[in-house]
Amino acid sequence: MADAGFIAGSADWKIILKDACAPRLAKGRKLCYGRSANNAEKGKCIMIVDLHTHSTASDGQYTPSELVRLAKDRGLEVLALTDHDTVGGLEEAVQAGDALGLRVLRGIELSAREYRSLHVLGYGVSTAPSALTRLCAEMKDGRDQRKYRIIDFLHEKGVDISLAEVEELAGGDVIGRPHFAQVLVRHGYVSSNREAFDRYLDTRDFHRRVERPKPLAQVCVETIRAAGGKASLAHPYQIGVDTGTLEDIVRNLAGCGLDAIECFYPKHTPEQQSFYLRLAEKYGLHATGGSDFHGERVKPDVRLAAWELETDWLLE
Ligand SMILES: [Zn+2]
Ligand SMILES: [Zn+2]
Repeated sequence: MADAGFIAGSADWKIILKDACAPRLAKGRKLCYGRSANNAEKGKCIMIVDLHTHSTASDGQYTPSELVRLAKDRGLEVLALTDHDTVGGLEEAVQAGDALGLRVLRGIELSAREYRSLHVLGYGVSTAPSALTRLCAEMKDGRDQRKYRIIDFLHEKGVDISLAEVEELAGGDVIGRPHFAQVLVRHGYVSSNREAFDRYLDTRDFHRRVERPKPLAQVCVETIRAAGGKASLAHPYQIGVDTGTLEDIVRNLAGCGLDAIECFYPKHTPEQQSFYLRLAEKYGLHATGGSDFHGERVKPDVRLAAWELETDWLLE
């Protein structure tokens, strides 16, 4: 019974929605609620959200303004722009949101050192100069150097592409692996982005030789908090650790100020989602949800999500 309130469609769940201030039950939309029935208080707002998206400011396909337009057309009420290691797209996104009547949360996604896909999302961060913007600048330097290491690595593997082409395709501040993957596809070295990662960009050899310096996850959380933001552990399944290790990570980060876990993510199985929700409950954390939308050219199988989530704690 402990997790009855977590399961979309359960009896408890429907009670929560009945009491929520603005439940919208449009067909085909995923209903989610991050807290247990006991924590649901009258008057809490449930909003239609996607809290994890990328723009051209990092490795996404669409400019911040285009992304906001897509989110508006998708029927979202709150969009968080969470580019990798940069706040560069946030003001444009907020302005576009103001013009269209869409609430845009200033977000970020920081990559942590301990595991390959240990990422921390920040929400409501300030873009004024701070430890966060300094960290972004340091990580940008690391990434800028990394692109030379990546191109050297690919050349050694017999791949004949130019860095200039990758930079032109990226168009923004951040050059990431998806940009290299697209150029590999374009020149016929691989048939898909996935294959580019499997054969070149996500191999053990690649990580050993190309990896860039990253902060500890604890530093990511603390830096986001110091910039006035809330921190959520991104896509926990991608970290690739067993449940015991994941719980250790959550417990440690919760002790450092972590606010939430990204429980709702397109690739989470129902079992994973339930487990993450139970973890969130156990450590007094909220639940966030996001698609990790990068645009169909970058991630063909991922579209913007439209989850109904309690957002009071994020928007206060
Ligand atoms: Zn991520
Ligand atoms: Zn992401």
